[in-house]
Amino acid sequence: MRILILGGTREARTLATLLSGDARFDVLLSLAGRTANPAALPVPVRSGGFGGADGLARFLKDGGFAALIDATHPFAANISANAVAAAQETGLPLGSLQREPWREIEGDRWTTVADVHAAADALGTEPRRVFLTVGRQELGAFATVPQHSYIARTIDPPQGVALPPDFTLVQARPPFDVSAETAFLSEQRIAVLVSKNSGGDETYAKIAAARALELSVVMVARPHKPAGVRLARPVDAIAWLGEIDPHAPPSPTISRRGV
Ligand code: NAP
Repeated sequence: MRILILGGTREARTLATLLSGDARFDVLLSLAGRTANPAALPVPVRSGGFGGADGLARFLKDGGFAALIDATHPFAANISANAVAAAQETGLPLGSLQREPWREIEGDRWTTVADVHAAADALGTEPRRVFLTVGRQELGAFATVPQHSYIARTIDPPQGVALPPDFTLVQARPPFDVSAETAFLSEQRIAVLVSKNSGGDETYAKIAAARALELSVVMVARPHKPAGVRLARPVDAIAWLGEIDPHAPPSPTISRRGV
């Protein structure tokens, strides 16, 4: 059974790895092509956009796929809207694998905001030392509040984005651990951390480190992300795929379940 996984996350890599050892499935993983050197995978990978929902629907039909799994990042909302539309157009089942958001616990000092522009505003008027972990595409929002001193951590360097004047880039790839994050925040005299509420274990260490150091966190809430059948973990996705009859005619009702 041909499966297309929309990826760019650890969950997508985990699912692809599990499915690669299962003879029932023939998997293709799709990446947007944003990261210069993506992690190696044990399944075939294609890269780049499809050209909207219609392009994705065409790709699914032409490729003889029997199911689509959206395992994209919680902040990647456009591709998920396209996945829902393409599943409806083709009648293919759509499973949406999404990790839980982080929850504020005792000792956390979060200010939750709707988007990165609100995060920039939430930093206030007084100059502060800020650690930005919102991804390279979102850094431009902070050029509008140039009074702060910024350190940003990204996988690849930002391109074509206006940056604030006092800006230092650190390039690193998750996972990160709490002791290293705590040492980094202390050494860099960080006063406030800006993070997306991505969820998951790989990048949670900065949140725990900020709690331990009693630092403020500006937390960007998740956008609305359209979904098909919601699947919590990669193993749930495998169980769901196992229930699909690859010979059944495409059924729009299956794809609409849970949307
Ligand atoms: P987005 O705004 O939802 O998508 C923008 C466009 O990029 C889509 O319309 C699609 O182009 C293309 N695209 C996105 N994901 C794709 C995929 N897996 N395969 C093929 N094309 C894809 O997405 P984004 O926020 O820019 O994120 C891009 C990728 O980075 C995603 O795969 C996501 O999982 C990963 N990622 C995002 C974040 C984040 O904070 N946004 C963090 C970590 C990883 P077409 O319309 O032309 O098909």
